[in-house]
Amino acid sequence: MAKVSFLGLGVMGFPMAGHLQAAGHAVTVYNRTAAKAQAWVKQHGGHHAATPAEAARGADFVMACVGNDDDLRQVCIGEDGALAAMAPGAIFVDHTTVSAKVTREMYAAAQDRGVGFVDAPVSGGQAGAENAQLGIMCGGDTDTYAKAEPVMQVYAKACRRLGDSGAGQLTKMVNQICIAGLVQGLSEGLHFAEKAGLDIEDVVSVISQGAAGSWQMSNRYQTMAKDDYDFGFAVDWMRKDLGICLATADENGASLPVTALVDQFYKDVQKQGGGRWDTSSLIKRLRSLG
Ligand code: NAP
Repeated sequence: MAKVSFLGLGVMGFPMAGHLQAAGHAVTVYNRTAAKAQAWVKQHGGHHAATPAEAARGADFVMACVGNDDDLRQVCIGEDGALAAMAPGAIFVDHTTVSAKVTREMYAAAQDRGVGFVDAPVSGGQAGAENAQLGIMCGGDTDTYAKAEPVMQVYAKACRRLGDSGAGQLTKMVNQICIAGLVQGLSEGLHFAEKAGLDIEDVVSVISQGAAGSWQMSNRYQTMAKDDYDFGFAVDWMRKDLGICLATADENGASLPVTALVDQFYKDVQKQGGGRWDTSSLIKRLRSLG
C-alpha cells in the first residue's frame, strides 16, 4: 500500500479518492475549498492538507482531478504547487481533461525534478467514478505507467497506456469527438420520434438492439424524454473539451466539421442557461426550435 495524495475533490475526485482510501492506501486530500476536504476526511478517514505542496510532500503518488489547463498548472507549478514538494521517484497522475500541450509542459517540469508524470484522463462520468468503473486513457513513460497502474486500477474498469506523454489526452479527445456527433444524432432521432407521434419507450426498445444502439441511447433516452438534464457531464465541461479538440485539430490538420457544429449547438444551450445541464440537453435546443 502506498502514500497517495489526491488534489481536487469535485464530482469525480471525491469518490475516486474515497476508493483509494477504502483500498487501504494512506490518503491525504487537498481541495481549494477546504470544507470539501474536511467533509471527505469525515466520510473516509485519512488526512487533509492546506495546499497541494503540503499534500504532496512525502507521497509516493499524487493524483489530480481539477478543471482545465490553468487549474492543472496551478496545482502543479503554481505557488504551493505539488511538483516542487515531491521527492525524486514519486509519480504525479493527472486525471483532469486538459490539452496535450499543458500535459507535455507538466511532464517536462516533473522530469526536471526526477518525478514521473502520467496523463490519465477518464471517461465514465460521475457514476463511473462512484462505482469505480472508469475508463482511463494514459500517456507517459512505460515504467512510470507500470508503477501507477495498480493504484489507478482501484477505480478503473479499463486502464491502458496509449503512448508517450499526451497520448492519454489525445485519446480522450477522440472519445469526446465520437460523443459529440452521436449525442446530436440521438437528439435528432428522439426529437423526430416525438414529432412523428411515436412512443419513445417502444421506439428505443427496438432500435437500441440494432445498429442505432449506443451507451448514450440506453442510458439517456428516458431522461431526455422527460426533459431532465441532471445526469452527468456538464455542457460547460464539454465545451472546454471540444475547444481542446478543435484547437488540436487546427494543429494536426484533422477535419472535424460535425464537432465544430455541435460545439456551436452547445454554445446555444449555454445561452439557454444550460451550462450545468448534462450533454444530452442538445435535444432541448431542438425542442426550442419547434
Ligand atoms: P468539479 O466537480 O467542478 O470539480 C473540480 C475540482 O477541481 C474541485 O475540487 C475544484 O475545487 C478543483 N479546482 C478547480 N480549479 C482549481 C484550481 N485552480 N486550484 C485548485 N483546485 C481547483 O469537476 P469534475 O466534474 O470533478 O471534473 C474534473 C475534471 O474531470 C474536469 O477536467 C472534467 O472535464 C473531467 N471529467 C469530468 C467528468 C464528469 O462527468 N464530471 C467525466 C470525465 C472527465 P473547488 O471545490 O474549490 O471548486
